[in-house]
Amino acid sequence: MTFFCTRCWGEVAEAAVRCPHCGDDIAARQSRSDFVDKLLAALRHPEPTTPIRAAWILGRRREPRAVPALVRLAAASSDPFLAEAAVAALGQIGGHEAEAAVQSACHHASPRVRRVAREALQHLDRDPALQEGPSDVSAFPRVPRRHAGSSACDSTNPHPETTA
Ligand SMILES: [Zn+2]
Repeated sequence: MTFFCTRCWGEVAEAAVRCPHCGDDIAARQSRSDFVDKLLAALRHPEPTTPIRAAWILGRRREPRAVPALVRLAAASSDPFLAEAAVAALGQIGGHEAEAAVQSACHHASPRVRRVAREALQHLDRDPALQEGPSDVSAFPRVPRRHAGSSACDSTNPHPETTA
């Protein structure tokens, strides 16, 4: 399990007692739950690179608790770099809710977000372990499965919701 300093978000060894990046005392590390809470709070941090870093870490950890916050950022963040990081994280975490948000991001206003969404969908298609998602999100509406080999991003109409 990879750990990160909750002060500077640098990567640290699990057994480290002091952050090698900022010198923070991390010997009294809190529980995993508190760590995730701090990452979720960091998604709302005013300094722009901190939420991006937090989204990246949450995706790498495949943290299912982060999905609702990442879905909101992917759809509504005014920062395309943060939306991009959120989409990439959702692609790593997987599950129906995350995949639906990634598919929506294929129509994002920012080209870089659309590109990351397409890459994330390919990743989701390739990884059979992610196809069904965590069992605790079974209450979410099922996302219709795409045909094998086709991508929702290949749709000829970029704005299907405006079609009569
Ligand atoms: Zn640090």
